[in-house]
Parts: sequence; C-alpha cells; structure tokens
Amino acid sequence: MTAQEKSLLYNLLNKADCLFSGKVSSDFQHIDFENDNDSVVEQNNVQAQAGVAETKGSPHAEAEAEIKKIALSVAQCNKCILSKTRTNTVPGIGKIPPIVLVIGEGPGADEDRTGEPFVGKAGQLLDKMLAAIQLSREDNCFIANIVKCRPPANRTPLPEEAQACANFLQAQIDVLKPKMILAVGNTALHNLLDTTAGIKKLHGKFFNYQGIPLLATFHPSALLRDESLKRPAWEDLKLFRSKLLEIVPDYQSSYLNGGSD
Ligand code: SF4
Repeated sequence: MTAQEKSLLYNLLNKADCLFSGKVSSDFQHIDFENDNDSVVEQNNVQAQAGVAETKGSPHAEAEAEIKKIALSVAQCNKCILSKTRTNTVPGIGKIPPIVLVIGEGPGADEDRTGEPFVGKAGQLLDKMLAAIQLSREDNCFIANIVKCRPPANRTPLPEEAQACANFLQAQIDVLKPKMILAVGNTALHNLLDTTAGIKKLHGKFFNYQGIPLLATFHPSALLRDESLKRPAWEDLKLFRSKLLEIVPDYQSSYLNGGSD
C-alpha cells in the first residue's frame, strides 16, 4: 500500500470515528505514512505495464511510457514539505510529444483536487490564450508546472521546493523535446532562467533555454486580477506564434480545436 493510500484510509477511519464517538479530528495524532516497498514495486510494474499496453501501436509509445513513469515517481515523491499537504500530485498533461511546452508555477486548489494542471478559471483563460494561436493541450501542447504539489494557500513555491522538484520538470523536457517553451508568470521565469528580474521587465523577449526558444508572458491568474495586462499578453502571444511559424511552419495543421488526431 502506498503512503497516499494509507493516509486516505486513516483519514476516512478518523472521520467515521468522529461521527460515532463525538471526537474532533484534532484528537487524532498526525502520522507520516511510508510506502510499503513491495507495493511500490508492484504499483511500478502495474503502472509501467499499463502505460506500455495503453500506448501499444502508438509511434510515440516510448515517450508516453516515460512520461507516465515520471508521473508515477512524482506521485510517490516526498522530497519537500509540499508532499504533506497535497491531495493529489499534478505532474502535467498534454500531447506527447508536444510542439510547445507550457510551464506555470504550481497547482492551485482545483488542480490539487483533480490532479490536472490549469483547470480552474486561470486554466480556462490559459486554454483561450493558447487557442488564439492555434495551440491546445489536446492537440499540440503539454502543460506542466515548476512544482508538482500545491503550496498551502496558493503561496509562491519556496526556492528549496522548486529546487527539490526541478528534476521532474527536467526529465519531462528531456523526454518531450518541445520545439518552444512558453513560461507563464514570475515563478516559471525565475526558476527557468535563474533571474530575479520581474515578468513585467522580461515578458515578450526570447531566451535560449537548453537550446529551446523560450518566451515568458503573464500568468493567466495575473490577467484575471489586472485587465490591463491582457493587451501586452496578447502581443507576447503573437510574437510566440511568429517564432513558432518559423520553426514549425505547418504547426497550425496540428490544431484540431481540442479534437483528437
Ligand atoms: S513539490 Fe515536487 S519535490 Fe515537492 S513533494 Fe511534490 S513532487 Fe516532490
């Protein structure tokens, strides 16, 4: 049994006890559960086999299986304190391989609940922004974050948390090999480019990230808070599209508006 499964079961039993005995949840001791070794191995095997089986026949089966393995490692990770408060890990989702990798900050409440990145209001806006330049998570993008677990109260991830999680994003980039990267928001910008300059200064500029052209723009949450950022964000997206057309002239043909190929 995994630590996450044990914790879920423990919380359920506590809730049931509260109902019948009148205790309050704070009466129960907090326990840091650990994975059973055999269950991890077993789960690894089952998941790895499932990944290969599901993707059998796909020209990208190997990359798909690798991305699933990374997601499984993320699900078992407790390298930083965010593992203690998460409900679900949020490794990332999208087309494999993608043309574009979108990198945000970290999961919020909706993402923590569903295990999928960018599903709340900000996520809906991100989907609209991408659709405006013929990109979507279903057709030609993969969406990931700097940290894979939700920071409490949606605070900015601490440097040590971003550092602890960096290997997962790097592994995803190595497998996905995107043609371009769109970094959204300050946290993505700071961690990817190792800069302290703000997004207001560096948005709309191209950078070389491990040989991949990267452009930073505003996080959709910032656009929801401040309407005046929508115009510069749109200008950034137009620049991004122009560059992408240079690199992948027919990329728009991969956009099926959320359909499947
Ligand atoms: S945020 Fe990353 S490093 Fe921290 S526990 Fe989650 S997966 Fe592990």
